Amino acid sequence: MSKPLDGRVVAITGGARGIGHTTARRLVALGASVAIGDIDDDALEAAAAELGTSAHHRVDVTDPASFAAFLDHVEATVGPLDVLINNAGIMPVGRIVDEDDAVTKRILDIDVFGVIIGTKLALQRMLPRGRGHVVNIASLAGELPMPGLSTYCGAKHAVLGFSDAVRKEVRGTGVHVSSVLPNLTNTQLASGTTGMRGFRQVQPEEVADAIAGLLTRPRPRVRLTRVAGLLVQAQGFVPGP
Ligand code: NAD
Repeated sequence: MSKPLDGRVVAITGGARGIGHTTARRLVALGASVAIGDIDDDALEAAAAELGTSAHHRVDVTDPASFAAFLDHVEATVGPLDVLINNAGIMPVGRIVDEDDAVTKRILDIDVFGVIIGTKLALQRMLPRGRGHVVNIASLAGELPMPGLSTYCGAKHAVLGFSDAVRKEVRGTGVHVSSVLPNLTNTQLASGTTGMRGFRQVQPEEVADAIAGLLTRPRPRVRLTRVAGLLVQAQGFVPGP
């Protein structure tokens, strides 16, 4: 029996755990040929074994040569890239006045530069073929001010602005660019916070479902939010113990 994503070649960064790994599992179930890339070698091996995919490759999204090698590996072993999901990200918690400069730079390197480089490399492959889809995982933090996550908020605002501009650049080419804005999601990344009062966590499976939906029906932005009330938006993240 045919499946909705049969024949689609999907590459996911940060695919060794959390939202990336859960999405990989979901897309494989829908018939896609999925390749995962991650900077964590051990987690990558384990995730690939669990998924039953040999298409995995170490990638550091902050290094353009490493990113290009990942996509080259995907195209050589699986086929022409249909979808890139720029998912790798970090979210250190803390007030900006106390933040180490190296941490600030690392957030921008992974969460912004990595997404921009990944989008560029994917478009260079997709535009000549007149088809493809780049999905950038942003965050609700890209639309809402979240004290305690200032640099991360700035990074995710940048991802949304960048994605919106690129979407206009490629309009009419057959290539799509989308953003996904999850609320706080139950993964290791969010484990350093005690959460945001009034926001209920979503599960990585719900984010994976939203991404799967995007691949069959492209839209500019998808939000995953369960907000109890507007007041909570200003309360911010509380650093965990
Ligand atoms: P996670 O920490 O569980 O997984 C992130 C993965 O990215 C890890 O496997 C990690 O090794 C990998 N990674 C980190 N730096 C990398 C690099 N330089 N190159 C390649 N891989 C790298 O996090 P998650 O919660 O699954 O987050 C995935 C994405 O979703 C991130 O972009 C995050 O900002 C976004 N997001 C998460 C939440 C949340 O609350 N968990 C909410 C909104 C958005």
